[in-house]
Amino acid sequence: MDNIQAKTRIDELKKLIKENNEAYYVYDAPKITDFEYDELFRELKKLEQEYPQYLTADSPTQKVGDKILDNFKEIKHKYRLYSLDNSNNIEDLKKWYERVKKEYENTGDLSLVVELKIDGLSCALSYENGELKLAATRGNGVIGENITENIKAIKSVPQKLSKPINLEVRGEVYMPVSSFEKLNLQNIENGVKEFANPRNAAAGSLRQLDAKITAQRDLHFFAYTAITPDEKLFNTHKEALDLLKELGFEVNPNHKLVKGINPVIEQCNYWETERFNLDYATDGMVIKINDIDKQNELGFTSRAPKWATAFKFPPEEVWTKLTGIELSVGKTGAITPVALLEPVQLAGTIVKRASLHNFDEIQRLKINVGNSVLIKKAAEIIPKVIRKKEEEDLGIYQAPKTCPCCHTELVKPEGEVVLYCPNSLRCPAQVKGKIEYWASKEAMDIDGVGCSIVDKLWEKNLIQDFADLYKLTIEDFMTLDLIKEKSADNLYSAIQASKTPSMTKFLTALSIKLIGKETADLIANEFPTLEAIKNATLEQLTQIDGIGDKAAQSIINFFNDENNKIILSKLEQYGVNPKGSAFEKISNIFEGKTFVITGTLSQPRTFFEERIKKLGGKTSSSVSKKTSYLLAGENAGSKFDKASSLGVIILTERDFNLLSEDKTNE
Ligand code: AMP
Ligand code: ZN
Repeated sequence: MDNIQAKTRIDELKKLIKENNEAYYVYDAPKITDFEYDELFRELKKLEQEYPQYLTADSPTQKVGDKILDNFKEIKHKYRLYSLDNSNNIEDLKKWYERVKKEYENTGDLSLVVELKIDGLSCALSYENGELKLAATRGNGVIGENITENIKAIKSVPQKLSKPINLEVRGEVYMPVSSFEKLNLQNIENGVKEFANPRNAAAGSLRQLDAKITAQRDLHFFAYTAITPDEKLFNTHKEALDLLKELGFEVNPNHKLVKGINPVIEQCNYWETERFNLDYATDGMVIKINDIDKQNELGFTSRAPKWATAFKFPPEEVWTKLTGIELSVGKTGAITPVALLEPVQLAGTIVKRASLHNFDEIQRLKINVGNSVLIKKAAEIIPKVIRKKEEEDLGIYQAPKTCPCCHTELVKPEGEVVLYCPNSLRCPAQVKGKIEYWASKEAMDIDGVGCSIVDKLWEKNLIQDFADLYKLTIEDFMTLDLIKEKSADNLYSAIQASKTPSMTKFLTALSIKLIGKETADLIANEFPTLEAIKNATLEQLTQIDGIGDKAAQSIINFFNDENNKIILSKLEQYGVNPKGSAFEKISNIFEGKTFVITGTLSQPRTFFEERIKKLGGKTSSSVSKKTSYLLAGENAGSKFDKASSLGVIILTERDFNLLSEDKTNE
């Protein structure tokens, strides 16, 4: 590819990606799959690395500023951000309407906009000549925190508007419920504290000192207020919402322009249950007078606009009976109690089960089977038990002493609230769970080997662990009910075809406590072979960014366990060999040295990463006290500043070449 071709392709890719950002975030109608989108993104990044002369600030790859955050400096808002007065029920709402109507003479029914009250974080964004200049949290309404870099990390926030105007925008940053649940699952796997609800997850993700972390979280922004100081671009709130959408913002589509209070009440009743089918949390409705002149006429109280009110949904709680407690045994042996309930209607669905988390929670709630319990569905989709009827004393449900599946005595590791069945090799629930997980999509992804096949193989005593899958023959499969030759053949081939997984898949599939896919990936990146992982010390493991003490200890324990050693040697014997990031080590000169790479270099980063590893060194994605060298190319940003402040040695590409060549020749 010559320079001109590269430039043409870069421009083409930028355009495609921007179009798709808009299709996805503004119109909710993606034209390509996520995978295709990622491919475009990757291609652009690679080209920009190879042809840095064509890398421009407005490229979609540059969405996250690399600038260091000013520790959330305080900012005085240009226009004050008010709160909202509440209507707690329909009566309040009617009273509010009568009151405002009286303020205007000779008016019939007022035009109102009813919209959802998004339960996120409100922020104010300032655009100058169509460019995003500043973003701040609401704070106390007068002073907020500067979060400009973090807001830029949200893909659905336009950094450049489709018109070069001055504009103040307010809206709500939120995390979809589904992404919140995924993030929490990851947190559990990584031994990190869970977020209580999507709002907290959004706040925690937005207020990160490193905007790169914000960029990795699935945050969105719904715009709901526009202020155009220089010219009047709309006469009504509805027109303002339409303008925001036209300018490139995500505007919540569930708003409605109505006349009079009755349709407002209808909307409130409708959304009270329907909101649970949305993928974002809402805690009420906001009702605003549509006409901007009328809004201005009414003005504000000291804390809130008089022309708007928030209708709060009543809490979704209901009493029912605890009919039992189900104990499930997870693949790592964790015993989780689940509340079984007399079925009740709650927030639009029939609820029969609720989460109880762990046995400490049961102690705290002082509940037992037979108690009347209050259950609640908040932003979380799974209902929770809140409390029992005070006066009912049926004692407290006692945590089991032995595994409900294999009857082995349970253990509670120090510092943990979870009870485990230690019989990891023979506890059927655990072993079956591990085999199922081994074959699952997330792990080795073996086609056709799901729960029912595993169940059948288990019952026929054909497998005792996941390694045994690899010794199965076509004939073995044909002994199973309902399995004909063709499918037996397919199952056999699928298993055989999975013998050379990536290191990440392999490590994930082993069901090591606290080691999920992401953590497995971090480890696979650092160690080239399974041998190296087996021999890794606690210190080496904790040096990897993103691996904490508990996860590191869990890896060591896993590979030291005699039973696991047997399974691993069986896997080896059957020819299951994970592919490591196989590179030949040519020397050990960088042994014990950790490099971080930043900025634009003459070659793609992977080139340098490989070279560092070949010379015995390690690479990491973020600068810390453990970093030995920062290899800094052009336009180095926050990593450069952080490295300087920590006294980390900073190398230019030339320094690096000298250092690595020198040493190779030694
Ligand atoms: P409160 O926090 O209860 O005083 O309610 C006021 C807050 O509701 C505002 O600061 C916004 O953060 C938030 N809010 C959520 N959705 C909307 C919306 N559609 N219109 C106005 N405010 C909203
Ligand atoms: Zn057990």
